[in-house]
Amino acid sequence: QPVLAVVGRPNVGKSTLVNRILGRREAVVQDVPGVTRDRVAYDAFWAGRRFTLVDTGGWEPDATGLQASVAAQAEIAMATADAVLLVIDASVGATATDEAASKVLRRSKKPVLLVANKVDDDRLLADTASLWSLGLGEPHPVSALHGRSSGDLLDAIVKALPSMPRDGDRATAGPRRVALVGKPNVGKSSLLNKISGEERSVVDSVAGTTVDPVDSLVELDGDVWRFVDTAGLRKRVNSANGAEYYASLRTKTAIDAAEVAIVLLDAAEPLSEQDLRVLTMVVEAGRACVLAFNKWDLVDEDRRHAMVRELDRGLVRVPWADKVNISALTGRSVRKLAPALRTALKSWDQRVPTGQLNGWLADLIAATPPPVRGGKQPKVLFATQAGIRPPTLVLFTTGFLEAGYRRFIERKFRERFGFEGSPVRVNVRVRE
Ligand code: GDP
Repeated sequence: QPVLAVVGRPNVGKSTLVNRILGRREAVVQDVPGVTRDRVAYDAFWAGRRFTLVDTGGWEPDATGLQASVAAQAEIAMATADAVLLVIDASVGATATDEAASKVLRRSKKPVLLVANKVDDDRLLADTASLWSLGLGEPHPVSALHGRSSGDLLDAIVKALPSMPRDGDRATAGPRRVALVGKPNVGKSSLLNKISGEERSVVDSVAGTTVDPVDSLVELDGDVWRFVDTAGLRKRVNSANGAEYYASLRTKTAIDAAEVAIVLLDAAEPLSEQDLRVLTMVVEAGRACVLAFNKWDLVDEDRRHAMVRELDRGLVRVPWADKVNISALTGRSVRKLAPALRTALKSWDQRVPTGQLNGWLADLIAATPPPVRGGKQPKVLFATQAGIRPPTLVLFTTGFLEAGYRRFIERKFRERFGFEGSPVRVNVRVRE
C-alpha cells in the first residue's frame, strides 16, 4: 500500500494531525524515548483506500540544527514515501525552516501537500494564502485539534496517492517482484550490485513493462526479476536521524510491493532480534520467502556447527523456507537464489482443488480427530483453499480448533501437497 509521510518542524501539530487522520483522540506520546521508534508507521484508511502513514514527529533535531534536520526529514520522506505532507503552523506563518523544507520538497516528483495547521478560526484563514509563496501549490488549511477541514484534507490525500496493486493481486504480468530485505549491513546493496554487475542488467530493455524508477530489473539465472524498491539500496539515504526508522519502513514497503522476499541473514553472526522481526514481517504480509545466508566466505567449521543448533531454534516460524548459502562478496552461489525463488513462487501460486483437498482431509481427520473442547468433539465439515498468494485454507467446522491442531493440519497439508517456500494460512469458520 502507498506510504504517506508527514514532515514539519516540531510543535506544528504533526502528531495531532496524524491522530486526526487515524481517527483517534489520544495524543501519541512523543517524548518517551523508544515509544514512537517502532510505532512510526500506522495503517490509515479513508474513502475505501488504505495507506501507511508515517509520522516523523519522533525525530529529535540533531546537532546539525533544526533547519538541516527538517530538510533531512523531507529528503528521506521524498526518497521513501509515495506522497508527502508538509505541515506548517499557520498561526506562526512560514519560517526559514519551513522554507528550507519546501525547497527540498519542490524537487520531489511525488505529490506534496502543504498543510496549514492550527487554523482554528476564520481570522487565520485569510493569512494562509501567503503560504502559496512556498511554491508547493495550494495550502490546505486545517485544524488538527478541532478537526476543521480534515475530511477535505483526507480527500486530497487519497486523490494524491498513487494507486497500488491490491493485496495479493498480480498487478501486471512480467517479471516477478522480489524484495531484498534484511538488517542493516547484512549485504543487501552488495548483493544487488553483484547481481546487476555479473548478470546482464536489463533495466530499460524489457518489452512491455513500465518500470517504476525505484525498482531494478535484473537477470538472474536466465530469468528477469524485478527487485522492488531498490532506490534506497543503490543510493544510501544519508541521515543519522531517522535512517533507522526508514530502514524498517523500507522493509515494510518493499515486502508489501513484492511477491517473494529474499531475507538476507548474516551467516557469520548469530540470528538477531532484528532478523526475526524482518522474517515476521514477511510471514505476516503473506509473502513467499527465501532465506539467504550471506557472508558465507567468513564461515568456518566451528561457526557451521554452531549454526545448526541456532537455526533449529531460531527459524521455527519458517521451517518451510528454502536456505541458500551465498557470498555477495565473491559471488558464491548467488545464482542458486533463482531456483529457490521459482520454487517459492510456484508454491505461493499453487491451488489444491477442493475435491482433492477434502479427500485428503477426511482421511487425516479420521486418523487424528481434533481435540475435544468443553466436552464436545468439533467436527470438520468441509475445507476449501479459498485463496492463493498466499495459499489460504478455510476449514468449516462445528467448533473451535485449537492453534496446535491448526498447525498440525498445516504441517500435514505441506507434507502432502508441498508449498515449500510459501506461508500457508489456515482459517477456521465455525458454523453455528
Ligand atoms: P546493506 O546495509 O545490507 O546494504 O549492507 P552492505 O551491502 O552495505 O554491506 C555491509 C558490509 O558488509 C560491507 O562492508 C560489505 O562489503 C560487507 N559484505 C557484504 N556482503 C559480504 C559477503 O558476502 N562477505 C563479506 N565478507 N562481506 C560482505
